[in-house]
Amino acid sequence: MASRSYLTRSPEETIELGRRLASELQPPVLVVLLGDLGAGKTTLTKGIVAGLGAAPEEEVTSPTFTLIHEYGGAKRGAPRVYHVDLYRIENARELETLGLEDLLAERAVVIVEWGEKLGPALRQLAPGRPVVEIHLSAPSDTERRIVVRESGVSRHRNGEAQSQESE
Ligand code: ADP
Ligand code: MG
Repeated sequence: MASRSYLTRSPEETIELGRRLASELQPPVLVVLLGDLGAGKTTLTKGIVAGLGAAPEEEVTSPTFTLIHEYGGAKRGAPRVYHVDLYRIENARELETLGLEDLLAERAVVIVEWGEKLGPALRQLAPGRPVVEIHLSAPSDTERRIVVRESGVSRHRNGEAQSQESE
C-alpha cells in the first residue's frame, strides 16, 4: 500500500495538512485515525472538515461523549461528514449499535478516531470502499508524525502516491 509521511511542528501545521488531505478525499470514503491520546487526531480532523467546506474548524470538537458528530451536507453544498470517536467503545456489541455501516452506505466522508477499536470489523465495514488510514504519533511535545496510507483511492491528481516529507 502506498504511504506518505509528514512531520508537523504545531497544531496549525496539522490543521493545514488536514486541509490539504481533504482535497484528495472523494466521498464515499472511510478515514481511519490511529494514535494515542493527544496524538492530534481531532486537530487533523478540524483541517479535514474545514477543507471539505463542511464546517469551520472551530466547530469541530471531539465527539467523545456523543460518539458521532455530523457536519456539512446539502445545505452547505459540501459533502456530509461523520466524525466518530470510538474512545469509549468497549466491545463489538457497542460498536454494532453505532451503526457505522449505515453511515458508510451514504455518500459521506466518515472519519473515525481511535480506529484501533474497529479491529477486524474494519474490513467487513467497508468492503470495496476506499479507506485512508492515518497513523499519528508524537516524537516531541510540538511535533507530530503523520503517516497516510490509502487503499482503493484513485489518485486523480498527483498520480502514484509516494513517500514525501513536508517542510
Ligand atoms: P487526539 O484527538 O489524538 O487525542 P488532539 O488533536 O485532541 O489529539 O490533541 C492534540 C494535542 O497536541 C493538542 O493539545 C495540541 O495543542 C497538541 N499539539 C502539539 N503539537 C501539535 C502538532 N504538531 N499537531 C497537532 N497537535 C499538536
Ligand atoms: Mg480526539
